[in-house]
Amino acid sequence: MLAITAQEIAELTDGELIGGALGSERVSGRARIDSRDIETGDLFAAFHGENTDGHRFVTTARDAGAALALVTDEVDVPAVRVADVEKALSDLARAQLERARSEREDLLVVALTGSAGKTGTKDLLGSLLGELGPTIAPAGSFNNELGLPLTVLSLTTETRFLVLEMGARGIGHIAHLTSIARPDISLVLNVGTAHLGEFGSVDAIARAKGEIIEALLPTGRAVLNADDARVAGMASRTEAPVTTWGQAAGDVRIQDLRLDDDAHARLTLSVPEGLTRLDGSTVPAETREITLALLGEHQALNAVAATTAALLAGMDLADVARVLPTLKPLSGQRMEAVHAAGDVLILNDAYNANPDSMRQALKTLAHLGRTRRTIAVLGEMLELGEDSLRLHDEVGRLAVRLNISHLIAVGPGAMPIHRGACLEGSFGEESEDVPDLDVALARLTEYIEPGDVVLLKSSRDSGLRTLAEPLRDAL
Ligand code: ATP
Ligand code: MG
Repeated sequence: MLAITAQEIAELTDGELIGGALGSERVSGRARIDSRDIETGDLFAAFHGENTDGHRFVTTARDAGAALALVTDEVDVPAVRVADVEKALSDLARAQLERARSEREDLLVVALTGSAGKTGTKDLLGSLLGELGPTIAPAGSFNNELGLPLTVLSLTTETRFLVLEMGARGIGHIAHLTSIARPDISLVLNVGTAHLGEFGSVDAIARAKGEIIEALLPTGRAVLNADDARVAGMASRTEAPVTTWGQAAGDVRIQDLRLDDDAHARLTLSVPEGLTRLDGSTVPAETREITLALLGEHQALNAVAATTAALLAGMDLADVARVLPTLKPLSGQRMEAVHAAGDVLILNDAYNANPDSMRQALKTLAHLGRTRRTIAVLGEMLELGEDSLRLHDEVGRLAVRLNISHLIAVGPGAMPIHRGACLEGSFGEESEDVPDLDVALARLTEYIEPGDVVLLKSSRDSGLRTLAEPLRDAL
């Protein structure tokens, strides 16, 4: 973070200096909540967690180099005591960003949201902007009321681009996040059914996501998906200019999108005449063909979204076209291709799941199914509320329509997928449901033949992602 004293922190957070703090202690590192991550000059924020209490580790953190602790309880190391640590971190983040903005006019805050693809798009955009200057876009999601301030607090005097993922589980969540970091560029990817259980309706999801557009600085720019009517409609929620991207429509346009034999997206992208950047300069109009190292059409959509924001922030399409093909998925997160013995390909996409990402993953699998036998191993999609049964049923039906060879639904929550498949019609080979991961693994090792492609997909807590390694080792 930008160097700051304990006294200043106390003032900003309405806190009190305790534990022998003099006020002159200087925090210059980052804010961290795990004492094991502490480095010299950091601020250690102690939380009362579900399993453990951070206050127990203030001395460990101090010994590891923490300049100061932020606490709610009495401690005997130099600390600022506040009423609410999370709120204090937010106040601190807001103040630090304001200061960074006053010290550095060209600092750009890019905020993005959507139902699916936020982290993937944030990673692409972070890598693109990294070509222009020091960029903060930390690996992982960090999209909530704790992760976001922690990300903002990793600002340094060097930072030129801050890429922030914003998630919402209800109305007002994104408004809170943007109250900490007002965006120069707000990007909305899509509005789908993720977290439908909490929201109640897709329109409510659109209302919540659109808060990111309402928060734009007047000098900023909305970046919207022209192909998604609910997203495109958000243009009316800001006075700031709007730039769109898309396939059927949009300023920055996908002219042609195909998947190659390995399901890598190959797309032709075009930039129109007269597209202006935030700094008033003009993006050169041009068209480029790009092949991604990422699998599936949805990655092409994320890539165009990231490209549009990167162009507005200062890049040219030529630079984008050079960098994008080199970008790989981050391990353990979005669809990762694991090669196993016998030319078996395991697509591990069980980092998380919702109906939209299920559909995209199955479509990618089906594409590979033109030359290979396909096996979809699917687990429950969580947090879908009362529509859960129907949405799982639809996944099973889609698997049939896409001619997936074999479906294995894992666990009780995934049974409606199997049922939907059976009701939809005759399955390529077979649809079955198994009670747990162990049985799934046993079935797969029995069933898989050389050349097969296997998709693992479920919400994270359904645990399918842990199958990839044992499966690879068993083949
Ligand atoms: P979270 O809300 O958990 O933070 P997220 O929005 O950050 O999720 P990612 O982690 O990037 O999303 O991707 C989640 C899943 O959605 C992955 O399985 C990914 O392959 C899929 N996905 C990525 N982009 C899209 C897209 N544009 N449309 C549909 N599915 C997508
Ligand atoms: Mg995410």
